[in-house]
Amino acid sequence: MLYTTLNNGIKMPLLGFGVYKLAEGEACMNAVKCAIEAGYRSIDTAALYENEKSVGQAIRTCGIPREEIFLTTKLGNPDQMNGNIMEAFDASLSKLGLDYVDLYLVHWPCAPYHISSWPIMEKILQSGKARAIGVSNYQPHHLDDIAQTSTVTPALNQIEMHPFFTQQSLRAYCRTHHIAPQSWSPLGGERPVQEQLFAAPAITRLAAKYNKTPAQIILRWNIEHGVITIPKSANSARIAENIDIFDFALTVDEVAAIDALNRDQRVGPDPDTHR
Ligand code: NAD
Repeated sequence: MLYTTLNNGIKMPLLGFGVYKLAEGEACMNAVKCAIEAGYRSIDTAALYENEKSVGQAIRTCGIPREEIFLTTKLGNPDQMNGNIMEAFDASLSKLGLDYVDLYLVHWPCAPYHISSWPIMEKILQSGKARAIGVSNYQPHHLDDIAQTSTVTPALNQIEMHPFFTQQSLRAYCRTHHIAPQSWSPLGGERPVQEQLFAAPAITRLAAKYNKTPAQIILRWNIEHGVITIPKSANSARIAENIDIFDFALTVDEVAAIDALNRDQRVGPDPDTHR
């Protein structure tokens, strides 16, 4: 596993396991345990996913010391807009059955609420119950807004990113401001976009060259960019496949060939309108 250092000095694995749409209960718990057994040390959940109980249970019972696992959860939009931010954070901790999270993110900007929510996120950081705070789906203008009054720069911005939506300018903005970019839907989300992505010649050519799958080439492309990524799967073979990307590297030209697949195509909602 490779790690990156966030702007407050804490270390975070470059590859993590996303748990969106893994149903609370056995399905989610087994998938998280399977991921931890396969070597993942970072789990990405959210209040929205309604599976924090199972994620917490898996972490508490997997046999790996808590401090070796990097756990992220997120503030839901309704709680952000109602101003119930501290309460929502405490509710997440209680569902997880843990006394701290490694990273707490604002899930969506929900403008203009991104401005009023950030000072409360800073209080959560001060409480010591979150080792880092950050945001998700923020555009540069959202980040500019909070920078006017913030005392803490978000450690990370979790954004949609895959070879059809490379987010080059948003990533450059994040780097300039010492905010780590993290990709969600790194494999292009669901079909049919994922099928088109996996069949793109720039991807299949490299998959053949390195004897890897299209998913592994795409995840490695994230690593070459230093982008933290969190693929999701409920399937144990794919969970293992997605972490088996640390025994090869792409060249600068190969990374550029994947970059060239960009067509500014979102598979998820637009952060300027999503609530
Ligand atoms: P993804 O790109 O990780 O995966 C999409 C689908 O690809 C999965 O349903 C799975 O069936 C399939 N898949 C996984 N590994 C595969 C493989 N090796 N070969 C073939 N198919 C494979 O998409 P995602 O789940 O949307 O995103 C990943 C994670 O990002 C989520 O679980 C969640 O934690 C996070 N996320 C965050 C936001 C946000 O707004 N912050 C939004 C969406 C997702």
